Amino acid sequence: MTYRSARSWAADQLREAGIENEISESEFLLEYACGVDLNFYLLHQTDEMPPEQYPVFRDLLEKRCRRIPLQYLTGEQEFMGLPFFVDGHVLIPRQDTELLVEEALRLLKDTEKQKMRVLDLCTGSGCIAVSLKKFCPEIAVTASDISAEALCMARKNAERNDMDVLFVRSDLFSDLTGRFHMIVSNPPYIPTDIIPTLMPEVRIHEPWQALDGSADGLFFYRKILEEADRYLFPGGRLLFEIGYDQGGAVSELMREKGYTEIEAVPDLQGLDRVVKGRRTEHV
Ligand code: GLN
Repeated sequence: MTYRSARSWAADQLREAGIENEISESEFLLEYACGVDLNFYLLHQTDEMPPEQYPVFRDLLEKRCRRIPLQYLTGEQEFMGLPFFVDGHVLIPRQDTELLVEEALRLLKDTEKQKMRVLDLCTGSGCIAVSLKKFCPEIAVTASDISAEALCMARKNAERNDMDVLFVRSDLFSDLTGRFHMIVSNPPYIPTDIIPTLMPEVRIHEPWQALDGSADGLFFYRKILEEADRYLFPGGRLLFEIGYDQGGAVSELMREKGYTEIEAVPDLQGLDRVVKGRRTEHV
C-alpha cells in the first residue's frame, strides 16, 4: 500500500463517519502516525508505506472515525500560543476562551500586579490559569476544579509551561480560603437539552461535567455569584466566559448582586463571549 492509497482509503472512511475535512484530516492522521510532515508526504506519495506503520495508522483512524477529537488523539492543544496536554477528563481549550484571558490581562495591566491574587474557578486543563501567569508573571494565581483528574492535567500543564500556579481541589469555593483581586471562570454553561444536539466530538467525548450548565445553562454563574462576594476584595473584578446568548442574563445576575462596571464583551464574530463586572467598593 502506498502512502497515497493509504491516505485516500482513510479519507473515504472519515467521510463515511461524517467527518467534513476528510482530505486534510486523512493527511494529518497519516503524517502523525508515520511521524512525517506534509513535505515528506508530498514527495513520497507513491512510495510504499512501511508495513509496521499500518497498525498505528489504522488504530488512529478507527478512533477518529468514532469521532474522538483529534486533540485527544494527539494529546495536545495550543492556547494563547502555549502548548497544553489534554485528555478526555478536560475540555479542549477553545480559541474563544482566549478573549477571557485577554480581557483579564487588560484589566491587570493598570494595577499593582505584585500584590494581585487571581483565582481561576473550574480550571479544567488549566489553560486560563497558566496563560494568565505566563503573560502576567507578577500575579499570584490559584486554580481550582472539582475533578481530581482535571487538576492532575492542569498541574502537568503548569509544569510543562514552567508556571507556578497553586492548584486546589474544590467544588467551586468549598475548599478555598482568603480573598482575591480577580476571579475568572469559564464554567460549564451549555443548557442540558442542547448537549445532545452538539457534534459527536463534543457530546460523546468531552467531559459532560465541563459542559452541562443545568436546565438554563446559568447554574454555575448563579452559584458563583452567590458566594463570590466573600472571596473578592471590594473593588475586585469578576470575569466569566459565557455562551453567545447569555450576555444579557449573566449581566443581569451580576447587577442583582450589586456589581458595577458590568460589560458584555463580544468576540471577533460580534457575539457576546465574556461578561465582566466589579464588586462594589463598599462592604
Ligand atoms: N477553564 C477550562 C477552559 O476554559 C475548562 C472550562 C470547562 O470545563 N467548562 O478550557
